[in-house]
Amino acid sequence: MNPAMSSELADVARLEDIVDRQALGEVCLSFFELFALPIRVFSTDGTLLTDVHDEQAVCRYVNTFSSGRTACSGLVADVRRLDPSEGPIDHPCFTGASYRIVPILYQGRRLGRFVVGPYVPAERREVPRSLLVIDPGVDPETARDALGQMPRVRLETVERITAHLGKVLDLILFSGHRAFLTTEMHVASVRENYRALTEKAARLQDAYDQLRELDRLKSNFLATVSHELRTPLTSIIGYSDMLAAGVVGSLNEEQAAFVETIRGRGDHLLALITGLLDMNKLEQGKVSLARQPMQARDLLEDVARTILPSAIKKGVTVSAVCPDDVPPLLVDPVRIKQVLFNLVENALKFTPKGGSVRLAARRTELDAPDDGGGMGLVLMAPGRPAVELSVQDSGVGIPPHEHAKIFSAFYQVDGSATREHGGTGLGLAIAHRLVEAHGGTLTVESAPGEGATFRVVLPEQDGAA
Ligand code: ADP
Repeated sequence: MNPAMSSELADVARLEDIVDRQALGEVCLSFFELFALPIRVFSTDGTLLTDVHDEQAVCRYVNTFSSGRTACSGLVADVRRLDPSEGPIDHPCFTGASYRIVPILYQGRRLGRFVVGPYVPAERREVPRSLLVIDPGVDPETARDALGQMPRVRLETVERITAHLGKVLDLILFSGHRAFLTTEMHVASVRENYRALTEKAARLQDAYDQLRELDRLKSNFLATVSHELRTPLTSIIGYSDMLAAGVVGSLNEEQAAFVETIRGRGDHLLALITGLLDMNKLEQGKVSLARQPMQARDLLEDVARTILPSAIKKGVTVSAVCPDDVPPLLVDPVRIKQVLFNLVENALKFTPKGGSVRLAARRTELDAPDDGGGMGLVLMAPGRPAVELSVQDSGVGIPPHEHAKIFSAFYQVDGSATREHGGTGLGLAIAHRLVEAHGGTLTVESAPGEGATFRVVLPEQDGAA
């Protein structure tokens, strides 16, 4: 512990904080039983911490007179008020008894005081006049008798007893102080840890807020730029189409090839921009789904029909299989067709001539959502009825270590096949988010050279969220 902290803690410590009250009470009681001397312990601010005494006969007698009661409480108040800053004080009582008030010191600081008494000093033989005059009714004989019953002690003995009690208190204080410091240190370190954690949490929150703000700005920027690019791009594509169609005169072979390149790049750019806008909307949760009941068969056949001309051109066969027992789905048909179309386009892109692309549907189950209720519960929870729509190809396949990555935006498997086929790297990222927005899952199963199967699992119409 650093020394500054130690002295700081000692400064704020009070007798009642340091000392174990029960131990203090027991020590005073054992002194009382040994020497029959009443003991009271006060903290610096006058709080009574321990009080062991018997009512003395003389006090009882004095208290039978109202003037005696007044004098008695005045004396008790005086004793309480006395400040033994210069060392022990012996204070006489009008009954002839005496009190000894001793400071409690610890590490040079006064933490309180203890009072021993009343006792009768051994040298006192007579009943003092101050007791006899307290009330005209005081009977000297009864007073002498009562005073005689009080413990009679020599001053040196009282000094020895109080010195001894002082040392015992010192020991109690020492062990109490150690425990107090340990607790204080513990509390201080817990407080410090808490403060540091709160600070860190605040910094993290700030960083998080900043990132969110940056993300919002990025999204806005992206949305604006994409929007602004789309309009001129549509003109570029439109005009290159017109040029290619010979609207402003026929083109020679080289000119036609140039226009074709402009058109191709324009299409690519448009796909990229449309993808970016889609991603942006999905990330911001701005995509609203217009769900309606759909037959899986209709979805698959529609997508297969759309891709068929390109497949025929490439020499790849396309088929769609849907058993009768497949229940309807509650989906946004435009969005789900967008997902399937992307999967089928990829399948066609990565499948060489002579290969096949197969679309299929079947009944299945979706894992129950993890409600954080523990692994065991999730394992036992029944799956929700669902429909799987799969796109299987016999193409180049995807190495297993790439499976998770291909669903990230702009990720493309690094290989000549991908580069050769172009693409934006946004299709699967968008598809994944769209399927999740429907409460479903999109997964892949593939190995290099063995084709790829993408599975879209969506809740059945009745189980759809
Ligand atoms: P894009 O096809 O525009 O590059 P996607 O997000 O649709 O972007 O796909 C990401 C990457 O995943 C592709 O570039 C390709 O490397 C890989 N991939 C997707 N589908 C297939 C598939 N059927 N066969 C082989 N690789 C695929």
